Amino acid sequence: MTTEQRAPDTSITATKMVIGGELVDAADGQTFQVSNPARGVVMATAPQGGKEDVDRAVKAATAAFEDPTGWSSWSAAKRGRTLMKLSNLVKEHLEELAQLESRNGGKPISGARGEVLGASLVFEYYAGAANKVFGETIPVSKPGLDFTLREPIGVVGLIVPWNFPMLMASWKLGPALAAGNTCILKPASYTPLTAIRLGELALEAGFPPGVVNVVTGPGGTAGAALAAHPGVGKIAFTGETTTGQEIMRLASGTIKKVTLELGGKSPNIVFADADIERFAKESPYAVFDNAGQDCCARSRIFVQRSVHEQVVQLFAQATRNVKVGDPADEATEMGSLISFKQRDRVLDYVGIGREEGAELVVGGTAPEGEAFAGGAYVLPTVFDNARNDMRICAEEIFGPVVSIIPFDSEEEAVRMANDTPYGLSGSIWSRDIGRALRVARGVRAGVLSVNCNSSVHTEAPFGGYKMSGIGRELGMHAIDMYTELKNVYVDLT
Ligand code: NAD
Repeated sequence: MTTEQRAPDTSITATKMVIGGELVDAADGQTFQVSNPARGVVMATAPQGGKEDVDRAVKAATAAFEDPTGWSSWSAAKRGRTLMKLSNLVKEHLEELAQLESRNGGKPISGARGEVLGASLVFEYYAGAANKVFGETIPVSKPGLDFTLREPIGVVGLIVPWNFPMLMASWKLGPALAAGNTCILKPASYTPLTAIRLGELALEAGFPPGVVNVVTGPGGTAGAALAAHPGVGKIAFTGETTTGQEIMRLASGTIKKVTLELGGKSPNIVFADADIERFAKESPYAVFDNAGQDCCARSRIFVQRSVHEQVVQLFAQATRNVKVGDPADEATEMGSLISFKQRDRVLDYVGIGREEGAELVVGGTAPEGEAFAGGAYVLPTVFDNARNDMRICAEEIFGPVVSIIPFDSEEEAVRMANDTPYGLSGSIWSRDIGRALRVARGVRAGVLSVNCNSSVHTEAPFGGYKMSGIGRELGMHAIDMYTELKNVYVDLT
């Protein structure tokens, strides 16, 4: 049964977009339904924005950017204080936002709270960063003074996915706003609700009208209009690699700056000398968190052959212990997938894995029982004795499926880890620090962790090699992505 077939929830919230400081409907009055995928019911409607609404938002953001006494003319410290107010407001509304995200995304309430807190901390970081954006003085050959300025780009379009809606929005809004840009945020159609609340909270925090706009609507129309719009100076996008390619095409007409955070097929490499018990205890969460709908999901586990049996046994046991259930339950560790379409796609991949000859060790089906009947659930799934060239190891499944692949030598592990078009993240487990560092240098990915699976640090750069993306988010590196670099030479003679 699809979400569309079920009777709507009785408490459907009708939401509005945020454009130019006003809460508005789509210009043509159209709306779309927003679902709770764990229950299989509609929970809200959102305005179905299109080209006309994007035009409105670009006008509002341009006026806000060009206002001579407006946002981009404010002192960096004042911009920082406003971001800090937003950070505090997000924290004050943590429970409300987490409940919304949990219901809308099917994600466990505990994880949703962590995500909202994470967004608040990202705003806090960029509140502090706003007045620490420095230029340089450069000893050029001529006798004058040469210095650089980092200036805001102008109007920036921020297009985010459904897997971590609030966090992805904060990763983009934080540095964009700290640098003095004005923004148009376009959330994914599955999950527009926290983005809308964020737009409302930004008004409450004191961002002038037009500085933070939120346009909801389909990617193919609203998103595409934003990516192609001549009034937008930059697009920051997180989503699928194929959509990223389309964004680049759309942005090319006006040579927009583009940063892309795209898909992944991240390796988790375990050497025989690793702390195997710790690996097996922690690593299921590196792939089954958020029901595997995580660009950093460690979905390929490479295990040195001498410990292969032991790793499979411990990892399978730890996987069986992952608590799958109602996202509203405090004890739940894995909720539903985002949609029935995504569930079916994941189950199709399970079938493909079996046909390819991988050995199904755990999961592979939807969980049974009344509690799961209406929701888009799939059990955490482990394949063993997979080969790196199988489709389940080559393609991003974006669901709770992991493949274990044995290897013999360090060189072979690095070669297989790199044998993918992606290069986002990865983990290395070994007590031999020399080896761990050699492998960390050898793996062509933007974010690596040794003896843990920790990919994201607000203060450190995050982003992908190869087809996993262009540019870096988080840390001060993200500021570079939202600024133009101007060089000024002063003749002193
Ligand atoms: P998606 O590409 O389908 O959609 C992402 C956003 O783009 C949505 O807001 C969507 O409406 C919009 N969009 C779709 N088509 C568009 C178009 N033609 N023009 C403009 N905008 C368009 O991705 P998704 O399914 O929402 O998210 C899952 C993907 O995101 C996965 O591939 C995952 O790996 C990736 N992801 C990457 C990172 C990272 O940091 N590298 C983080 C999270 C998710």
